[in-house]
Amino acid sequence: MKYDLHNHTYYSRCSNLKPELLLKLANKKGLDGIAVTDHNTIRGAVKAKKLNDGRNFEVIIGEEITTDAGEVLAFYLKDEVKPGNFFDVIDSLRKQNAVVSIAHPFRASLSMNKRFKYGIESVKNKIDAIEVFNARNLPGNNELAQKTAKRLNLAGTAGSDAHFAFEVCSAYTIFDGELRDAIKRKRTSYKGSILYGPFGGFASFLRKRLAGMQK
Ligand SMILES: [Zn+2]
Ligand SMILES: [Zn+2]
Repeated sequence: MKYDLHNHTYYSRCSNLKPELLLKLANKKGLDGIAVTDHNTIRGAVKAKKLNDGRNFEVIIGEEITTDAGEVLAFYLKDEVKPGNFFDVIDSLRKQNAVVSIAHPFRASLSMNKRFKYGIESVKNKIDAIEVFNARNLPGNNELAQKTAKRLNLAGTAGSDAHFAFEVCSAYTIFDGELRDAIKRKRTSYKGSILYGPFGGFASFLRKRLAGMQK
C-alpha cells in the first residue's frame, strides 16, 4: 500500500488545495490512501472523506496540531483536537485511539525553526511514530529523523506535506495490510523526494501574506 500521510487543504491558511482536487490527484498518482492533516482542524479531512467514493482508496481523518513542543500529526481522529500543551494534546489523542506521529521532528534552518523541542527518546512511549520523510524538509532533516527512528526502534511515517497540487504524492508511506497495524508492528517504509519542497514553502509564504492582506 502507498499512502501519503501528510496533506493540507484550503482549510489551512497556507494552502489553496481543494479537497476534491487532492483526492483526484492522489488517485491519479496511484496512491492507495491519504491522510488529510490540516493545521488544527479536521474540516478538510471530513470533507475529503465524504467525497471519497473509491472503494479501493482510504481517506484518513488527520490533523497537524500545534503544541508548545512542536507539531504533532494525528491519524484516525474522531474529534478535532485543539492546539496547546504537548502532553495535553497527546492525552486527548490517546482518549480517541488516534495514531500519533511527530511531524518533521528535525526541521530546522536559519529562518524557520520547526524542530521538535523535546528529545524524541523522552517522549518515545507517548507516540506511535515519527515522520521520517517530509518532502518539504531541508537536506539532512529527514536523514536525522530516519536515524533516530532506527536507533529508538520507532515506526516511521512519510508524507508530502502538500499544500499545493504540484506537491501531492512527492513522498509516501509504504506498508502491507492495514496502516494502524503496520505502524504498531513498525513495518513501514517510504519513498520520497525533497526536490519540490522549496517551491512549496515559498508558495505557502506568499499565500499567507496574501491572506493577511485580505483581512
Ligand atoms: Zn508542519
Ligand atoms: Zn504540514
